[in-house]
Amino acid sequence: MSEGFKDQGRERTERRVGQVKEVTSLANPLVKDIKALSQKKTREETGTFLAEGLKLVIDAVELGWSIRYLLYSKAARGKPLVEKVAARTVARGGMVLEVSEKVMSSITRKDNPQMVAAVFDQRWRALSDVRLDKNETWVALDRVRDPGNLGTIIRTADAAGASGVMLIGDCTDPFSMETVRATMGSVFAVPLVKTGVEDFLRWKKTAGVALVATHLAGAVDYRKIDYKSRPTVVMMGNEQSGLPEELASAADRLARIPQAGLADSLNLAIATGIMLFEARRHLLTLEGAE
Ligand code: SAM
Repeated sequence: MSEGFKDQGRERTERRVGQVKEVTSLANPLVKDIKALSQKKTREETGTFLAEGLKLVIDAVELGWSIRYLLYSKAARGKPLVEKVAARTVARGGMVLEVSEKVMSSITRKDNPQMVAAVFDQRWRALSDVRLDKNETWVALDRVRDPGNLGTIIRTADAAGASGVMLIGDCTDPFSMETVRATMGSVFAVPLVKTGVEDFLRWKKTAGVALVATHLAGAVDYRKIDYKSRPTVVMMGNEQSGLPEELASAADRLARIPQAGLADSLNLAIATGIMLFEARRHLLTLEGAE
């Protein structure tokens, strides 16, 4: 890690205006460090991640997340919402950077970047702290590999009112830029747990949950399962190989979604959505509907 995150030695490439630093050079160490958050190694070392978009950043702050670095492009200067989030960032000890469009493009790796981005600390929930009440549902994902799938699942879990997502085994990083983008902000709302197979199975023994695992060879129609009596963990298999035997055999129910047509299986994120909305059907109501 360079000195950038330690906030040193950037005088030549930045200018302070009040509590905002203007940064225009791609060679600025802080820019280099924030750009390096596109790499998993840097995200792990720093325990941080980058999220883009004003709405998403405001949502995060409202949910109690603190911003380490707020970046906005020159064109956003003076916009009331940007000013508000900048003031809040400074008040909570974060740093505000006004950057050129070139710098924003480079950090977000986009030709037409958002006008606002921010660096946050990652948050993980410990599996041992997860206790489910009766009406709660969690999703457990076995070795999910595709960032788009994981982001869509986190977003869908949020929309279905699920309480969190467990990542079992070697999963793609929920704090990668691609996954964070695909969550559309739900990464800030849905607790995440990282665990291994053995720890998960040990937790399951005492957690008092119904483990509903999905499998292409599942014997039970997913619509015939009782999701009301106990809190539920809906478990989904890896995109290529499905659920391994050691996880499938620990399930209380092995559910299948009936299919027509030629496709062998459903996309993982779609199958998760179908399962979650069925598991929570009795809890989700449409306000104002007949
Ligand atoms: N070739 C893999 C297999 O044999 O399981 C396909 C995996 S599928 C793309 C990814 C995951 O989505 C599965 O492990 C399962 O959890 C879920 N899934 C997809 N279609 C399903 C269905 N019709 N019924 C139950 N689960 C399904």
